[in-house]
Amino acid sequence: MPGRLKAILLLTWAVLRTAFIRLLGVGRAGIAAFRENYDADRLPPVSEAERAAMSGFGRCIACGVCDRGEAERIARSAGAYRGVMAIVLAGGRSMPDFHAAAKSLGFVPESVIRSKEVDCPADVPILQITRFIREKAAEVGYSVPPPAVSEKRPSDQARLVVDTGPAS
Ligand code: SF4
Repeated sequence: MPGRLKAILLLTWAVLRTAFIRLLGVGRAGIAAFRENYDADRLPPVSEAERAAMSGFGRCIACGVCDRGEAERIARSAGAYRGVMAIVLAGGRSMPDFHAAAKSLGFVPESVIRSKEVDCPADVPILQITRFIREKAAEVGYSVPPPAVSEKRPSDQARLVVDTGPAS
């Protein structure tokens, strides 16, 4: 079967199935449906307040000031932690990377993060970003009832274990 025809048939089937389920009033809707569809991609839903806060997360100008004094922690992490700037730039902007970013954060005490925020020339809310990362990583990792063991692929089983690195 040609690929284009197969895609059209699959889309048609999905639309009809969705319409049928909605007509019957069965199936999940709202946040529950969102989580069912996107938790596997590590994309947790965000609240109105979180969405508003996120608009201030992209202010970083990549100056590197917040990485001053981090060499020892970076070396000790054996690759798990690449500095605060990397967390703000990469981890803070990509939800699927929040688990890795949360693990990174295990190497930096919150008091250090707070001092970085004070020194940041762009007034990036670093502390707020790091808390958001931790909360969202834990949300996807813990709050979803895990599927039955027989339904899980090995990669899913690994995903459900949130490793946040050593205690700070
Ligand atoms: S978070 Fe602030 S200090 Fe760190 S790299 Fe971005 S702008 Fe510079």
